[in-house]
Amino acid sequence: MTEKNQTIFGKIIRGEVDADVVYEDDDTLAFRDANPVAPTHILVIPKQHVVNLFDAEDDHQALLGKLMLTARDIAEEEGLEEDGFRLVVNNGEGVGQSVFHLHIHILGGRSFSWPPG
Ligand code: 5GP
Repeated sequence: MTEKNQTIFGKIIRGEVDADVVYEDDDTLAFRDANPVAPTHILVIPKQHVVNLFDAEDDHQALLGKLMLTARDIAEEEGLEEDGFRLVVNNGEGVGQSVFHLHIHILGGRSFSWPPG
């Protein structure tokens, strides 16, 4: 038996914790970040528990591609096509990952500096 995903995102997937869901299909879920750092701040996650990209296997290739295209579609829905948007995936505590369930941050609606902080 696979272990229950005890992260906060596992609880959101199971409906144990509420979220402002903007998109859902069989494989993916997207919801607004509870502590947004930009006017648009949405998290796109796989329903399957993958900790981060270090945990991804070759057979996750299609799922990872789907997450990216889903993020693109949501960004378009949010009206970010003209000004653009940024995707961020934090992989590991050292670079700021705080929830250990893979997620893509969609950030938009303001300007962003480069390099990132
Ligand atoms: P990380 O730091 O792991 O890259 O990103 C985790 C993100 O999850 C953070 O931006 C944080 O604000 C968000 N987050 C943490 N707990 C919750 C929650 O219960 N609900 C929602 N919607 N977002 C959360």
